[in-house]
Amino acid sequence: MKDRKNLIGALLALGLCGIVAVSLGAQVGLFNFLSGKVTASGVGQGIDGDVVVSVTADASTIYDVSVTAHNETEGIGTVAVAEIPGAIVAANSILVDSVAGATVTSDAIKDGVRAALESAGLDPAVFEKEVAAVEAGERTPETLDCDVVIVGAGGAGLTAAVQATQNGAKVIVLEKMPMVGGNSLKATGGMNAADTKYQAALGITDSGVQEFIEDTMNGGHGINDIDLVTTMAEQSSDAIDWLAGIGAELPKVAATGGTVHKYLHEPEDGSAVGSFLVAKLNEKCQELGIEVMLNTEATELIMADGKAAGVLAHDAQHDYTVNAGAVILATGGFGANFEMMTSYKPELAGAVTTNHAGATGDGITMAEAVGADTVDMEQIQLHPTVYQETGLLVSESVRSMGGILVNAEGKRFTNDMSTRDAVSNAELEQTGSYAYIIFDQRIVDDLKSTQKYIASGLTVQADTYEELAKAMGLEGDAVQSFVTTMDTWNAAVAAGEDAEFGRDNGMDDDLSKAPYYAIKIAPGIHHTMGGLRIDTETHVLDTAGAAIPGLFAAGEVTGGVHGGNRIGGNAVCDFVVFGRIAGNGASAFAAGD
Ligand code: ADP
Repeated sequence: MKDRKNLIGALLALGLCGIVAVSLGAQVGLFNFLSGKVTASGVGQGIDGDVVVSVTADASTIYDVSVTAHNETEGIGTVAVAEIPGAIVAANSILVDSVAGATVTSDAIKDGVRAALESAGLDPAVFEKEVAAVEAGERTPETLDCDVVIVGAGGAGLTAAVQATQNGAKVIVLEKMPMVGGNSLKATGGMNAADTKYQAALGITDSGVQEFIEDTMNGGHGINDIDLVTTMAEQSSDAIDWLAGIGAELPKVAATGGTVHKYLHEPEDGSAVGSFLVAKLNEKCQELGIEVMLNTEATELIMADGKAAGVLAHDAQHDYTVNAGAVILATGGFGANFEMMTSYKPELAGAVTTNHAGATGDGITMAEAVGADTVDMEQIQLHPTVYQETGLLVSESVRSMGGILVNAEGKRFTNDMSTRDAVSNAELEQTGSYAYIIFDQRIVDDLKSTQKYIASGLTVQADTYEELAKAMGLEGDAVQSFVTTMDTWNAAVAAGEDAEFGRDNGMDDDLSKAPYYAIKIAPGIHHTMGGLRIDTETHVLDTAGAAIPGLFAAGEVTGGVHGGNRIGGNAVCDFVVFGRIAGNGASAFAAGD
């Protein structure tokens, strides 16, 4: 009896005290005496600040991991947020594979788990077991059939997929990364287009097709393929309307770097054009029921009777033979393939790249294997405003909205709105080969990307120019020089003339709204202008100049559109215009038209 009483008493006590909150430093752990489990949270550093993770575990098992707060990039970091917690629980180990293309977020989640375990008084080392590699084994062969197979689900591939499906084709899209979007997802500025309804509504009459062609040719040092440039410019307005038709309106119009004209079309709400368009295109693909196979890498073109007739591809479990009536290569550039880049430009070894991890030039390699020609492969663009620690690109819109560049001496040193190559080269000539991009609260209020830079800790800020100079680390005379630079710039904006460097656009407003901000930047590898040689119908051409039947290509995998230097806003125009042409051409070819 006494024993029973004791037992009941003990159980009651356990029941009452069963769940006790234990405060561990800044973290609060919930310890459940009945189960021995503890729940605690920890923090890791993501791309955009803190990633907060909640973990439930006991001494030997992780039961639950969830990300409770983060500000990671939609479509990139969010893939890791969706996948890594479950993988850690399944493996009962922190050492799971990171999500390709989202390693910073993956690591932040793992660090958060470690911190949570520690704060709960558990030993993270217990959970640092190597995860046994999935048995390589034999992949299962599988055959798929479609009208059009598209390799790559970036801007060009998704555009082509929607267009070909709208034409009635059965489309399969293969994407080797765990997420769609490629480099397109990172496009922060806008889409250049001429003679659009939005320009007309704003009364912009000096930025038509002819000016667009001239600016693109001049920006590209005249080595661009004039036929491709003409096609892009002529079809750009239609492309804008087509995007509006799928719910992707770009109604704001601004000037872009390297031109005095206003072509740059942006989303209404100031969001970055790349993530905006990729999300809209992806939604449309889902609505149309298009099969987009993630984690699926194409390795080889299938040729039959001299025509492209499909691709070989694989994921972790399957070897796919994808038979198709036509093939579109939309694999993007090779700005993350240092071996390929340095074979054309050895001096790029060791440079920082802004490119996503999947930009490895696969489409070029696959097409060359069936006789395709390439053009301008050595034309590799540096972008002048890259945050070196992470390769994050500071949007051109910061300058087109009035931001300026200053050097370590606190002085402007070039026309900040000149072409990317000119600005990059000017930066490389400055002390330390870097510069600062300066902007103010007005720009922060209007441009969402700048709010992210602040949240991610890229900026220094201050309420006066002098304090900003000090926060930037300028010393001695450079502090006063910086104050003079800002006053001179504001006066130049008021006068409408930049007497020092002849900048003539992005000067609608000065930089006088405190607080003021600066980001230290330098040039980074950005865009591979060269690639597969195509004609204006996006046929891939062989080394004799003839179209390879059934083989189409669009987007950064192609060469010729941008010549020796791509102007900002033209990559998006390129992928929408030529993505649509490829979608039309491939669906017609597959239908036997
Ligand atoms: P663009 O829109 O100009 O075509 P992006 O870089 O936006 O360029 O998109 C290219 C896409 O192609 C990326 O998402 C990339 O991961 C994907 N890709 C590259 N190589 C392959 C491959 N071998 N198989 C499947 N997808 C690929």
